[in-house]
Amino acid sequence: MKSSLLEICYLFGSVTFIVGLKMMGNPKSARRGNLYAAFGMVIAIFGTIFLFEKKDHAGNVDTAFVVPAMVYYLIFGAIALGTVIGWLTAKRVQMTKMPELVSMFNGMGGACAALIGLMEYQHNLDSTGALAAIIAGMVIGTVSFSGSVIAYLKLNGTMNKPIRLPQYNIINTIFMISLVAFGTWMVMMKPDNMAILYALFFAAIVYGILFTIPIGGADMPVVISLLNSFTGLAAAFGGFLYDNKIMLTGGILVGSAGTLLTLVMCKAMNRPLSNVIFGAFGATGATGDREMSGNIKDINVSDTAVLMNYSKKVVIVPGYGLAVAQAQHVIHELEMILEERGVIVKYAIHPVAGRMPGHMNVLLAESNVSYDKLVEMEDINPEFTSTDVVLVVGANDVVNPAAHNDPASPIYGMPILDVENAAHIIVNKRSMNAGYAGIENELFFNPKTNMLFGDAKTVLTKLVAELKAL
Ligand code: NDP
Repeated sequence: MKSSLLEICYLFGSVTFIVGLKMMGNPKSARRGNLYAAFGMVIAIFGTIFLFEKKDHAGNVDTAFVVPAMVYYLIFGAIALGTVIGWLTAKRVQMTKMPELVSMFNGMGGACAALIGLMEYQHNLDSTGALAAIIAGMVIGTVSFSGSVIAYLKLNGTMNKPIRLPQYNIINTIFMISLVAFGTWMVMMKPDNMAILYALFFAAIVYGILFTIPIGGADMPVVISLLNSFTGLAAAFGGFLYDNKIMLTGGILVGSAGTLLTLVMCKAMNRPLSNVIFGAFGATGATGDREMSGNIKDINVSDTAVLMNYSKKVVIVPGYGLAVAQAQHVIHELEMILEERGVIVKYAIHPVAGRMPGHMNVLLAESNVSYDKLVEMEDINPEFTSTDVVLVVGANDVVNPAAHNDPASPIYGMPILDVENAAHIIVNKRSMNAGYAGIENELFFNPKTNMLFGDAKTVLTKLVAELKAL
């Protein structure tokens, strides 16, 4: 009876995961989707705790088995601690620090999978299938854990330079092949010696570090998504081991969603995954630089206000700098004032603007910008020819024409927002510094471009005040 109820809990949990994931595809329903999936997870966890029945190999329930009270204390203590720490961390984190948080949470998932492997190994020496799941889950989870820790340190600036050993690609490949061979040998030979298992565990930690340290800090969001898919895979192996459907479904969903996200990010940057892992994108700072011709013209806040006030159509291009400056609320205020004056305002959303997928959508949703004002790149590009003013706020690479016309540029081939086609271009940033790819932007030298220098929040606040005074 209990087992059947537990299966129903797992089925319910699996359905909420799938429905939740589907709802996350749209900003309007994403929040609810997250809650649905979390609710399903809570049901599955409590079902497992209270409805679990110990069975022998033939599937008969061991009615004499009682879970010791101490186990419940430990489980609920850990749940309470994890909930408080997770809740507080997620509540306090700034939007720009989200990739760091994701890497930390992901690393914890990998560590859990690794611990399962360490604990279950000796209990399953009689089954090759179970051992294969244990070793694979432990190795993949450990790589994900140590890789995520390095990714975290890179993102928070502690390790801001990629470390590349000579011939690091060859060393890493040999290491990976040796790790797979070691794991396969353990599954085949089943050595009853925990020291050998710990050797494999430490080798996996070293591989996770070696895999992640050569990659440029700015490529970390892509790597985190890849490591996330590793964690999903490791969890799925755990599900296979315990014959636990929810762990299997959850792991497969995380694994496949992480893989798809990695590929989508690479596609949007027009770079193969191998280039992210083995390339040195954005790390040298000088790749693709070329002499810029033309002058930089700056503009002040009053002139910008007048120009925008008398426009018919304004397109705002938000970028990473908008997120850093936390200017999402004031930009919404600017949009509302312009709309009150009869100006059509839209936001042009580049798929990799910012530092994580959907970064701009999430940021603008936070300030209640209407979803139908957010227009995807393919749809907004044809509209620039009929746009009076484009206001680029803290974006750089996603509007860099070098992607179209400089084959030597590292971003050559990346789809960009064609803001050059608008009548006037105003670019707000603090200096002439490069963006993520570390290259100059010829848009700033375009005769139609005016630079509005300053921190996005400060400048936009002044712009709003000027517009109100007009
Ligand atoms: P960029 O990183 O290219 O440029 C951001 C610009 O914002 C900088 O040039 C900076 O100039 C400016 N800036 C920084 N702080 C402020 C501030 N307080 N006020 C005003 N401006 C500021 O950002 P984009 O959004 O254009 O491009 C994103 C890049 O990140 C792309 O190259 C993309 O490939 C990459 N990427 C994106 C991922 C994603 O999933 N979204 C994942 C991995 C990489 P200054 O210092 O002069 O102010």
